Amino acid sequence: MRIYVNNLNELGDNEKITINGWVQETRKMKNLMFIILRDSTGTVQITAKKDNLGNYNEIYDITRESVISVSGILNKKSVSKSGIEINADKIEILSYAATPLPMGVIDRVSVDFDTRLNNRFIDLRKPENLFIFKFESELLFGIREYMNNNNFLEVHTPKTVAAATEGGADLFRLKYFEKNAYLNQSPQLYKEILISSGFDKVFEVGPAFRAEKENTVRHLNEFTSIDVEIAFADDNYVMSLLENSLVYAINRTVKKLGDGVSEYNGSLKDVKSPFPRITYEESIDYLNSKGFKISFGDDFSPEAMKTLADKFDNFYFITGWPADLRPFYTMPDENNPKLTRSFDLQLNDIEITSGAQRIHDYRMLEQNFLIKGLNKNDFEFYEKAFKYGMPPHAGWGLGLERLVMNLLHLSNVRESTLFPRDRTRLSP
Ligand code: ATP
Ligand code: MN
Repeated sequence: MRIYVNNLNELGDNEKITINGWVQETRKMKNLMFIILRDSTGTVQITAKKDNLGNYNEIYDITRESVISVSGILNKKSVSKSGIEINADKIEILSYAATPLPMGVIDRVSVDFDTRLNNRFIDLRKPENLFIFKFESELLFGIREYMNNNNFLEVHTPKTVAAATEGGADLFRLKYFEKNAYLNQSPQLYKEILISSGFDKVFEVGPAFRAEKENTVRHLNEFTSIDVEIAFADDNYVMSLLENSLVYAINRTVKKLGDGVSEYNGSLKDVKSPFPRITYEESIDYLNSKGFKISFGDDFSPEAMKTLADKFDNFYFITGWPADLRPFYTMPDENNPKLTRSFDLQLNDIEITSGAQRIHDYRMLEQNFLIKGLNKNDFEFYEKAFKYGMPPHAGWGLGLERLVMNLLHLSNVRESTLFPRDRTRLSP
């Protein structure tokens, strides 16, 4: 059985153990040295005495961030900071770290973000960065569990496609033998085809690609989209699914990761559903009362979003967006054809989800191809699925990195992306 640092508390005093990790720091005297060993769960002091180690001289010169395996006796009455140390009787060097390190793991001096991303393998050794991805993993597990408990099928749709999901310019084109293809912007069209196939409730976690022209703190060129589509459902149904699944996943994650979460965001324990709702038109009235000059049909600027966010604690929905601002497949509002049965979920001032009831009548879709200036022929494979029995349906797409960024109060979506892709970065 592998022992990790966070298991040491449960073990008995004087127990003989083996533990593996990185050399975070060393403190040396002549015949005695201390090594702070770090693994994925924490750090522990290793006490290495010349008398106990045949290769003491070699260990004495060990470089920071080298990888070692330590066997020894657990001392739970240590005077070290954690009260625990390991008295080594064998230390094996598994891998030497070269010097100097491209950046430090525990050094107080801060390096700029580019240096961090260029050396992401080291940057991610920092426990606070590893934590972001533990959090993401737990959160996603919670969402999956919620979907699984509610009879969803998890599906995988193609990312190389012949037609753009929404037309538009933010597409990556690639050569596909003799043809042109694109990297998919969203699984939208395929999710809907599966609804006509009778899959009933589908969800997908996968990459989405957008050739975003601007380099902003909330845009990536490749992000992870959590997508949901449900047959015989309307916009309200999928909004409650969204808030309930998020609250479930957040509560589960906070329970599991506890204090680590509070270090990033102390109020995550208090997230409750249902989330407040405001319509697009109410938002305009509110913002204009605060000095903005927004007309019907305008999208909201980041400044407007900040002002609106002040009205709410954390999550809130903006519903009833104008048809002009939504994709062609969005269901119009039966009472006002200029509006749609659509919503965005906001977390503070940033959009994290867009969703809607979708059009299920292919004649209505065809009208919208015309209105939006899309070439009907490009969408034949999609429209076909609407002609032979398509239920009403609704769904949403949620950006995982944006969700984590906002839940942990990170200032840049790249912080919650292992290896971000942006306008200037394609490596590592
Ligand atoms: P925005 O207006 O913020 O650029 P969008 O409305 O174009 O986003 P949607 O097509 O609605 O995005 O995508 C659904 C969700 O996917 C968004 O709410 C967001 O969480 C996420 N998302 C979209 N584009 C990006 C991106 N470039 N980088 C990271 N996440 C994104
Ligand atoms: Mn959107």
